[in-house]
Amino acid sequence: MSWKSLDARHWRRTLKYRLTKYYVGVFTILWIGCLLLVFYSQKHYQMRSIKKDLFILSNECLFEMICHREGPVDAIAMPIENLPVHCREKLQETLKGFAPCAAYHVRKSVEYLVAGIYDGASMLVTLNGHKGDVISVEQCPAQDYLTFLHGEFNEEPYGQRFNPILLMVAGRDGKILASSTFDQAFHPLVEKLFLQEGGLAGYRRISDERHSLLFFISRLHDGNLLLVAQNMDNFDANLAHLLVIFGCSIIVFIVVGVCLAFLLAHSVSDGLTRISQTASDIAQGHYGKRVEYKSEGVEIELLIKSFNHMTDKTEKMLKELENVTDDIAHDLRTPLTRMKARAELELASQTNMDFAASIAEDCEEMLSIINIMLEISRIEKQTGNVLRTQVNVNALLEKLHEAFLTLAEDRNILFHVILPEKPLTIHGNSRQLEQMAANLIDNAIKYTQDGGSVNVLLEQKDDHLLLSVSDTGIGIRQEDIPRVFDRFFRGDASRSTHGNGLGLSMVKAIAESMGGSVTVESAVGNGSMFVVSLPLNHLMA
Ligand code: ADP
Repeated sequence: MSWKSLDARHWRRTLKYRLTKYYVGVFTILWIGCLLLVFYSQKHYQMRSIKKDLFILSNECLFEMICHREGPVDAIAMPIENLPVHCREKLQETLKGFAPCAAYHVRKSVEYLVAGIYDGASMLVTLNGHKGDVISVEQCPAQDYLTFLHGEFNEEPYGQRFNPILLMVAGRDGKILASSTFDQAFHPLVEKLFLQEGGLAGYRRISDERHSLLFFISRLHDGNLLLVAQNMDNFDANLAHLLVIFGCSIIVFIVVGVCLAFLLAHSVSDGLTRISQTASDIAQGHYGKRVEYKSEGVEIELLIKSFNHMTDKTEKMLKELENVTDDIAHDLRTPLTRMKARAELELASQTNMDFAASIAEDCEEMLSIINIMLEISRIEKQTGNVLRTQVNVNALLEKLHEAFLTLAEDRNILFHVILPEKPLTIHGNSRQLEQMAANLIDNAIKYTQDGGSVNVLLEQKDDHLLLSVSDTGIGIRQEDIPRVFDRFFRGDASRSTHGNGLGLSMVKAIAESMGGSVTVESAVGNGSMFVVSLPLNHLMA
């Protein structure tokens, strides 16, 4: 399937679609999770605070019912069950059969105030919090709590103290014995409460279609029940409101999320689509196509860079292959044509005995081309056993100077080799190093007119050895410079001279096999300068 065939049938299989779906799915689940967390923590927190208020009020009320006065202001209301065991034991030891109803903890003096019924009388007992000892026992005024409550309810508008609060004492049968004024609408809920099965104690939530009440029920010493209730309508309405807001936010989130996720997925997949599109174009023969860079993340940029680099290399190799094919055909055609012509001539005249010698010469030339090609290939692939030693480059160049001097002098070319005083040595194969320098010197002399000059300079720059071969020869055309190191490349101007276009390929292969490089600067008519740079500390493979 090519990128072009990504039509409607395939859109569900596209990376863009899958990424969008994945992002939206993950973010929506996370968002819903967060909202539920907020919702339940809100609900729990509010419910806890309502329950606490109800308990405090119930405790206050019980205390007042028994002691006929308000509870201490500097004390904290506490459930009777939370009274420490040692206090409870001491209390029972001192006042056997004491029925505790309400308790306060006075933190400052570490004391407990317990209001309860003892022997039919209302008592307020003060206990030492550390030891549990009874500090004081105070008998409270004898008055029926229902009469007291009636008076209290007339005095204090309980219904307004909290968000309508309901306070009442009821018999076991559900008969209301005393109560604060409350909305008639809540009556059915109170009735419903007493219809409930199981013992009535602790918190009970009773709701109907319109209202909802949360009761806190305490059992009194005489079996009657003290009920404190909070209207939960506001609480429920707030939660419902919160749910609506959350619901809307989820819808908005999904819509915005789809757009953002699509943009995000697009930015990720766009680079891949462009690579795929370019690959498809290249496959159709547009070798010059490259993927455009856009700022879309280091990974995608690296992928594009690698892809473009790979395509550059492939294109270069293809061009080289094309050239090589042409050049091989060209270079082998000349000796072969010559061989054919001579053979035909000989066959016709049957006289010339140089025939065999000339065939052998042409074969030699072809073999030499093939051998050089194989040698370059071996060096590039770094195969075969190559002996590497410390090579004295000064000595090597002196030897080459001697070898090429006659050739240069024959053509009136000034040939100089400038060497550093302290001989430079490098780890490598001396035959390859010699071949590399010889190729450059040979070219320099070959492409320099009679009377010109050729200079070789060896020097050390930082941790590199630099070998420069310069001449005052014919120079190289600017458009040919990038191709001079290609196999079989021969400049038009050099076609008349002897050569096979493999010398510089060999130089480049040897330099690179030693971790170095070769560069050229040249201008037509002004000569050329080739510079080989080799690292002195390169570790050979
Ligand atoms: P050959 O010399 O056998 O043609 P090379 O690979 O050594 O092959 O060189 C490739 C081409 O580079 C040459 O044909 C020539 O056009 C150009 N060249 C190389 N060295 C020089 C030089 N010193 N001056 C001018 N042209 C050069």
